[in-house]
Amino acid sequence: MEKTFKFAGVMGWPVAHSRSPAIHNFWVREHGLQAAYGLFPVQPGALEDAVRGIRALGIAGCNVTIPHKVAIMPLLDRIDPLARRMGAVNTVVADADGTLGGYNFDGYGYIQCLRDAKPDWSAAAGPVTVLGAGGAARAVVLSLLDEGAPRIRLINRTRGKAEAMAAEFGPKVEVHDWSERHEALADVALLVNTTNQGMHGHAPLDLRLDRLPRTALVSDVIYIPLETPLLAAARERGNPTVNGLGMLLNQARRGFELWFGVQPRITDELRAALAATF
Ligand code: NAP
Repeated sequence: MEKTFKFAGVMGWPVAHSRSPAIHNFWVREHGLQAAYGLFPVQPGALEDAVRGIRALGIAGCNVTIPHKVAIMPLLDRIDPLARRMGAVNTVVADADGTLGGYNFDGYGYIQCLRDAKPDWSAAAGPVTVLGAGGAARAVVLSLLDEGAPRIRLINRTRGKAEAMAAEFGPKVEVHDWSERHEALADVALLVNTTNQGMHGHAPLDLRLDRLPRTALVSDVIYIPLETPLLAAARERGNPTVNGLGMLLNQARRGFELWFGVQPRITDELRAALAATF
């Protein structure tokens, strides 16, 4: 019998705070689809059963978040080459034959959010400084390199993690010490915060902006709050800024299209609906 209702969701632990249901169900309503997007709270020990459940229940797919983004990879039938390079999956899509593919759209979401904010933005405009070397940093650094960034200064509190990333991603990624972060802002065209510093419940990022060119674009992958202390300080001195909401929304577009067959748009109404949930 033909399926008339499609279901997707976000798999993580904890997952109750996720904004993904608000985004996807907004689009489901907007397009009048027979579909829904829910929360899949999956404890670490239950991941294998949960993936079998996607197949057994005929679910269209899911987003994957902490702590499953890496652990889910060997449980899937196919991994997209870009997700393989990122070393993590953030979207699972069930094909018509029931097999499961793993993708990572975080890098796409990041680049697209810069383009949405500044249509003439180019990664080739100059050196980039990226703070942090976790999962978000991998997506940001890899996608900036793929877009033609000439040099990336990678700076992480735990230097060894930045060095491991640089060794993997090649000589355009230079590691600087955490203590050098203030000076490493000279001449950059783009500064990106991928640490959790400045996120709701965390301390602000400890960073002096006096060496940063006033033309440099300052971006933060954090979206709660929408304006982090870093973005507020950058805006006050005249730098253009981009918050992390566009990255979340743009990565969501790709999954939605693959699950439900409709290309959704990021509208002011969607942004307002989401802002109301913060
Ligand atoms: P993660 O893998 O746990 O990495 C956390 C990063 O923050 C590491 O580089 C860590 O440095 C650094 N950090 C933690 N505490 C610090 C401190 N006190 N001082 C300096 N650095 C510190 O996390 P993630 O998945 O990359 O996520 C990072 C942030 O990105 C989160 O706020 C998350 O919400 C956001 N994010 C946003 C999107 C989006 O769509 N907008 C997507 C993914 C993630 P060490 O290595 O030294 O611990």
